[in-house]
Amino acid sequence: MTATADYKTLAERASKELAEATAAEALRWTADTFGDDFIVASNMQDAVLIDLATQVKPDVDVLFLQTGYHFPETIGTRDAVQAVYPGVRIVNAEAEQSVAEQDAEYGPKLHERDPNQCCHLRKVVPLRNTLAKYSAWVTGVRRVDAPTRANTPIVTWDDRNGLVKINPIAPWSDDEFNGYISEHGILENPLVSIGYLSIGCAPCTAKVAPGQDPRSGRWAGQGKTECGLHG
Ligand code: SF4
Repeated sequence: MTATADYKTLAERASKELAEATAAEALRWTADTFGDDFIVASNMQDAVLIDLATQVKPDVDVLFLQTGYHFPETIGTRDAVQAVYPGVRIVNAEAEQSVAEQDAEYGPKLHERDPNQCCHLRKVVPLRNTLAKYSAWVTGVRRVDAPTRANTPIVTWDDRNGLVKINPIAPWSDDEFNGYISEHGILENPLVSIGYLSIGCAPCTAKVAPGQDPRSGRWAGQGKTECGLHG
């Protein structure tokens, strides 16, 4: 059996065994199973997942998709994460082309004309290239994020990227999530407090009015809801 087949079997078994696991249990299992061979993804909206992960692995690798289109506050949050959790290693996954090179080849503002292609070049491919170096990744996806995420399991096999995917806080409600931030004084992107409730690249992220779906601020008016990272 290949290593990939081994990990796929492992993920299928763990999906059942850890179906009711707490975030701490899921992360402990991840660290015990994969050692250094996993990475935690963060969009630098907050450091909840990083805080939880450093409790089981203080020197955990953290994946940040450096698309070249982030708000300065998001870059500042990334740098603050490094200061607050000095052991973590932040891996900045970049596209093959700079924004200027992309503009030269495809024309400026590809995100306005073809956001799927822009996300593919600046997120999906860099993610795939980075994940190819690991056997597992950990994400902060939650079931309440969007209807498309309602059935997110705690452990699964990520067929698209060919590795195990762990979603330790998948079952967390907004109250649990916000409670963790306030109880533990967790770092948050300052944009959250002024109404940016789902933060991505600056050109594709809008403020969300009180009571609206947080992800409605992503690619507003373009009929797109996901980057293609978690499909
Ligand atoms: S979120 Fe917008 S700017 Fe960022 S990669 Fe996707 S389309 Fe491009």
